[in-house]
Amino acid sequence: MASSTEQETEQNRLAALAEYGIGSVLSDPGFDRLVQLAASIFSVPIALISLVETERQLFAASVGLDVCETSRDVSFCAHAIRGDDIMIIPDARVDARFHDNPLVTGAPFIRFYAGAPLRTASGHALGTLCIIGHRPRENFGEQDRRNLRDLAALVLDKLEIRRLEMARRTSQFRFEKIAGTSPDAIICADEQGLTTFWNPAAEKLLGYRSDEILGRSIDLIAPEQFTARLYQLAAAGESLTEGRTVEMMVRAANGTMIPVELSGSMWREDGRPRFGAILRDITERRQNEERLLRLAHIDPLTELPNRTMLREQVELALSKEMTASVMMVDLDGFKDVNDSLGHSGGDAVLVNVARRLQACARSGDTVARMGGDEFAILLPGLPDAVEAGQIADSVIAAVSQLLTIDGQPVNIGASIGIAMFPGDGLTVRELLSSADLALYQAKAEGRHCRRFFSADLREEATLRRAYQGELARALAHQEFELHYQPQVRLADSTLVGAEALLRWRHPQKGLLGPGAFLPAIEAGLLAPRIGDWIISMACEQAAQWRSLVPDFRVGVNLFGAQFRTGDLADKVLAALQAFNLPPAALELEITENIILRHDEHMLGPLRELHQRGVGIAFDDYGTGYASLSMLKRYPLSRLKIDQTFVRAMLESPPDAAIIRAILYLGHSFGLEVIAEGVETGEQAARLRKKGCETAQGFLFGKPMPAEEFARQFIGPPADHGRGTPTIL
Ligand code: C2E
Ligand code: CA
Ligand code: CA
Repeated sequence: MASSTEQETEQNRLAALAEYGIGSVLSDPGFDRLVQLAASIFSVPIALISLVETERQLFAASVGLDVCETSRDVSFCAHAIRGDDIMIIPDARVDARFHDNPLVTGAPFIRFYAGAPLRTASGHALGTLCIIGHRPRENFGEQDRRNLRDLAALVLDKLEIRRLEMARRTSQFRFEKIAGTSPDAIICADEQGLTTFWNPAAEKLLGYRSDEILGRSIDLIAPEQFTARLYQLAAAGESLTEGRTVEMMVRAANGTMIPVELSGSMWREDGRPRFGAILRDITERRQNEERLLRLAHIDPLTELPNRTMLREQVELALSKEMTASVMMVDLDGFKDVNDSLGHSGGDAVLVNVARRLQACARSGDTVARMGGDEFAILLPGLPDAVEAGQIADSVIAAVSQLLTIDGQPVNIGASIGIAMFPGDGLTVRELLSSADLALYQAKAEGRHCRRFFSADLREEATLRRAYQGELARALAHQEFELHYQPQVRLADSTLVGAEALLRWRHPQKGLLGPGAFLPAIEAGLLAPRIGDWIISMACEQAAQWRSLVPDFRVGVNLFGAQFRTGDLADKVLAALQAFNLPPAALELEITENIILRHDEHMLGPLRELHQRGVGIAFDDYGTGYASLSMLKRYPLSRLKIDQTFVRAMLESPPDAAIIRAILYLGHSFGLEVIAEGVETGEQAARLRKKGCETAQGFLFGKPMPAEEFARQFIGPPADHGRGTPTIL
């Protein structure tokens, strides 16, 4: 229960709130502009000016919400107004006060909240200016607080003007009383323009004492403009005019000109017109507004235009130009730099790249930072794809030039997607999304290159999206399963392990092999999660079988994306630990494609895992361009001879020669070698003769479900004492 003083304070607060005439405060374009500014500065979907009444909170302005009030019980702002400073809820779902709040569990699904109380000069918090996000946010720093406070001050400014206008409508007496304590200069004049009222704030602002100025012409402070404004008002009608504010310059007693916001009105006293004006010094506010406006449009690190401004510039270009080109530029290898050089090193690289991009652009082009390590370049009036391609090439060349940060050489590259207006999109949205799709393509084709948008990219993207939904469902409904294919020692045909191979038990299409869905997984965002699942599933299975076949080892194929998350080593070690497996029980299979695309990124985690004894196999060896130096640089334990060579080895001397070469190479580097795709006894015999230790293929068994594998190769628990089973 609230104490009686608390109740009294609340009553005073509500009385103060009533002075602002809440109903008429609604739908003021000035407020709308401020919430938009807030949403854009903090990159949040929702921003509100909320006024907290007895039973409800009312939104004087909002972006991202389509309701104009909620009940007070659920209001975050009702909490925020109790504090002196900003209330920040980094993650509402883990906050005891809010985790089960209906605005958190349901629409608008609040996760992050920051609300600055709107506290008047008299000390009452009327409500808040608040920002709301759908994702948790831990890093709301001092600078962010300052910006939110400054924005709240701008809101309060506007509210104060409303209050004075409200007061003026009630009675002259009340008006003068309020005017006496107002922080704003308030002056009144009669129909001849002679001052009749001059409050203390006016004395302070303009430097005239009230007894000096009363009865003198107000032209003294603002010749013409001001008088013109008053006559305008007179002409506008007899009644109290709803004061529209204007910005103008006024002259102080010492001659300096001061920018003010003026809100004027007219009324009648004893049948004679009277004029009133509220003046507010806006020097500081203008600076603040400019700063905040800049913040909403400029990336503070690189000082390039940000995403918002780029969109505005593209919009402008599309309305003025016959042709234009937009390039999305994404850095390759930036994450690595950030990891090794730290945050400040990463920042230095971004600033440097920004300068390089600017140097490649023509005058009149806009180079913007879209966020993270993504940039964009707008080239208005560029009709020619050939020229766009040349500029893109020069950007790639410029970015890949060696850079030195803190004495350390830094190597990064750029991938670029290009879209042309009007061919690739007629609206800002279409054009930017076309450029994004082209960028996606450039990344998929191996990075460090540029691609133009083409219509089939969009079709593919649509299909991809639809398919991603299906994959997510499959993962959630446990439709994926692992099949196991035996690997044997050729010398005595004993089982040494199995390769885990992914299958999808599709509810309609039946059992699908990886060919049908793997590319979709690799192209989407689910690869790391599915990859994690595969590792943990395979480890669990291996642990079970190791109790019967002590040295059993399971091979797991990796997705490229599993390297990009940066926590591969941790994930793998955690899975081993969870199932109490020694590192040697697991072998990770990587292909050349993964290696070529990720390069240095992957070495860290692989080295760590290799050092701890996890096997690393080079899959499909011999099919690509793998150089000898790769074998030296990568932490490997096995080479897997690709099945194409095995299949042809008996008939084709060159294939047999390749197998001999791989065996020789592998052994020289101290690596084991396994042959894949062994289908006949003859192939197995030949491989064994050439010194190949292990093999895998239909001859020994096809990939099969775990139960089947256990039945065929592991044997029932009763067989335990028989030792390692032989396959042939
Ligand atoms: P891979 O890693 O080269 O796997 C061996 C593929 O060869 C398997 O096809 C297997 O069924 C097939 N195979 C094995 N022995 C023989 C044989 O004697 N003759 C013939 N003709 N084929 C044989 P599968 O299961 O369709 O897998 C295809 C590819 O999909 C795999 O090639 C691998 O690159 C990828 N893949 C499969 N499962 C996974 C997984 O769990 N994760 C990842 N990242 N990739 C996977
Ligand atoms: Ca494999
Ligand atoms: Ca293979």
